[in-house]
Amino acid sequence: MIKVIKHLKQLPARWNNKELEAEINHFKQLVEKIKEVNLENEEDSKLVEMSKRLVSLAQRGISEDELLVQSFSLVKEAAKRKLGIEPFDVQILAGIAMHKGKLAQMQTGEGKTLAAVFPAYLNALTGKGVHIFTANDYLAKRDAGWMGPVFAFLGIRSGFINEGMSREDRKKAYAADITYVTAKEAGFDYLRDSLCYEDDELTQKGFGTAIVDEADFILIDEARIPLVIAENEPVKKSISDKISKIVDVLVLGADYNTDESFRNVYLTDNGTDKLEELLECGNLYSEENYELLLEINCALHARALLRRDVDYIVKDGKLKLVDGFTGRIADKRVWPDGLQAAIESKEGLSSFQEGRILSTITMQHFIKSYAKICGMTATAAASSAEFKEFYDLDVVVIPPNKPCKRIDHEDILFAGNSAKFHAIISEIKSVHASGRPILIGTASIEESQRLSDALREDGIYCNVLNAKNHEQEAEIIAQAGCIGAVTVSTNMAGRGTDIRLGGADEAERDKVVALGGLYVIGTNKHESRRIDSQLRGRSGRQGDPGSSRFFISLEDELIKKYGSKSLNAAAIYLKGQKGPIDDAFHKRLVEKAQRAAEGQNEDMRFLLWRYSNIIENQRKIFYNWRQAVLRGASEFVKWTFEALKEYNNAQKYVSIDVLMKIEKYIMLFHMDRLWAEYIYQTNYIREGIHLVNISGLNPLEEFVRSIQASFDELMLEVYEEAQNTFRSNDFSSGDIDLDKAGIKAPSSTWTYQITDNPFSDDLGMLLASNRNIGFTPGILLLWPIVLFGIIYTRIKKSNKANEMV
Ligand code: ADP
Ligand code: MG
Repeated sequence: MIKVIKHLKQLPARWNNKELEAEINHFKQLVEKIKEVNLENEEDSKLVEMSKRLVSLAQRGISEDELLVQSFSLVKEAAKRKLGIEPFDVQILAGIAMHKGKLAQMQTGEGKTLAAVFPAYLNALTGKGVHIFTANDYLAKRDAGWMGPVFAFLGIRSGFINEGMSREDRKKAYAADITYVTAKEAGFDYLRDSLCYEDDELTQKGFGTAIVDEADFILIDEARIPLVIAENEPVKKSISDKISKIVDVLVLGADYNTDESFRNVYLTDNGTDKLEELLECGNLYSEENYELLLEINCALHARALLRRDVDYIVKDGKLKLVDGFTGRIADKRVWPDGLQAAIESKEGLSSFQEGRILSTITMQHFIKSYAKICGMTATAAASSAEFKEFYDLDVVVIPPNKPCKRIDHEDILFAGNSAKFHAIISEIKSVHASGRPILIGTASIEESQRLSDALREDGIYCNVLNAKNHEQEAEIIAQAGCIGAVTVSTNMAGRGTDIRLGGADEAERDKVVALGGLYVIGTNKHESRRIDSQLRGRSGRQGDPGSSRFFISLEDELIKKYGSKSLNAAAIYLKGQKGPIDDAFHKRLVEKAQRAAEGQNEDMRFLLWRYSNIIENQRKIFYNWRQAVLRGASEFVKWTFEALKEYNNAQKYVSIDVLMKIEKYIMLFHMDRLWAEYIYQTNYIREGIHLVNISGLNPLEEFVRSIQASFDELMLEVYEEAQNTFRSNDFSSGDIDLDKAGIKAPSSTWTYQITDNPFSDDLGMLLASNRNIGFTPGILLLWPIVLFGIIYTRIKKSNKANEMV
């Protein structure tokens, strides 16, 4: 069923291919036209004049398409004068594609930063604002500084935003025509703005054009992660410390088990009995123990499935999550509710204290609020169906400026991890002896540590990239092409930074070229081929020589999770074989495992996307309503007769302006308060939904019904509460004491992300079996449903067991 949906989506894409081709041909003609405009001999002042004229034309309503040739030729000339770079044709081509709302696939090192300047300038002419999303703060600052002179020369204001910047500075940067910012920071600002009481407190001026750099990372990998804004006030500490200690007593195998792929953990009957005894709680699976069971489940997951230095690290007494895609520490990220606390207890850390959540949005939905979305990345084509489905983005593959000469060697397959590890070490040693630079991409922080330790023991010094600091990381990765350099990194460290052969020194470059360029070694296949291509793409930039090779084993995580039965069986009977397994059959199976992983993850994202749209629609309705109230749309006309009388009466004492302001504050206050409550409530409904199941109804269907009803209620409640507050105020004083009426915005807030659900597969299965229902709570809300699913199975099992008895 899911497959069908996807393929239906792909069909029109295939039909459109001819159309897309024709479009690309048109883009190529435009490149020629742009190059025909010769501005070489014009004075600077003439160019500035031209730019001014373009601005005024755009603001008079001349379409951007009509201004394309002129503005692109201006940018081309300005780049030459201000950066000393003559843009390549392919960069202009990519610029056109992006302006036309496409996703440009351009290899690493092809100059995407400059390519984005073309559409950025053109779309900034109207003053509606262009946001260029970079993969991290360091790149936002770097790119703004780097490209800034071009914009400044053309009289266009540009700026950037970094974490920790003041509201005033942010406002200034957003007020510019072009803003470099991470999607995350922009999303957090959006959430903060959504709590403002006055129009002029807003930092963002609107959502014109979004140009997304490293688009696959932001639009797919990061897309589902919810951004959250919460009150900064601590809430009660959970009971997880106690549970954690009790769970520690349980023994793997006897009291609990995990499944083969280490995705689920189950209590055995033995374990259940033990817990019931220790907790003196009676039947653990009874209704009143539901919360307790959730906690136990979290504690078990934390203990049995999440590994220190792989899934998270502990640094400065704090828990830091490791991002599954980047293999790096994810900033300001937490696990869903109880799980975070459970891991903290397991590690003996003081617990993360989470204030009341005020609002939340997924990255995906945030980005979709822009009028126009386009982007660029080295790896897009493999995910083109997803870009089409989620963002209606076509992928346009831009040819490289110089043909790629990199040699991608065939994978080498081993039976076990230890054989693989030794082969990698000896490969590094022998290649390193020649001085050829090597970049090794690993799957986890723990693995990079182990590898670098082993290399050091052999006297090979290597740089390890798992630091949190993007700037330092960029410096190190920039040196990864130097003679003798050995750099170990998790798979996406230093994304956005160019690896020049020989480093900055041109003379060294020739030597590295003679040695064969940068050698990239992958120690694992990722669940997505896209990520593997990113790693390979580090080598062979701009027609440089280079090569890449992956070393894999039947004990790799990917195979364990997604490999076929025969592959897992092979892992057992070939165990101990030291040399590589050189047979095509097994290699094909490994490829199949990766496809299976991709397919499964993709299906999941498609499903969740469909589901998540329902809550998102509610959020949007609510947001638009709030915006209207914020901008001064009066709501009192919708009030009851009684309240209206009060309203008219109040006008005797206060001017209509003051009255409207009071009305607005009261409305906003209740809207925010009730929305936060709504989020909390939907969580609650969901947690109680298991009762429905027992009565034989479909829980997800019931969930949708419940949240839809409570959303309608929410809207009515806002009016009701606002009227009550209004009526209880004594206007004869001539004003309203907002503080006394309790009307005030939260004094301080903080923002963070909730990490992707680590057990989304269970969820997917649960949803898949109920997929005819249109529901969706977003990951934030989904998590306990997963638990619920597990628990439900368990209840069913225990009921069955009872019956049998
Ligand atoms: P990407 O983001 O595509 O990996 P960057 O934008 O980081 O690439 O650019 C890579 C390098 O190529 C930079 O050092 C940049 O100065 C250089 N570069 C970009 N465009 C050109 C050009 N037209 N001519 C020469 N060098 C260029
Ligand atoms: Mg880049």
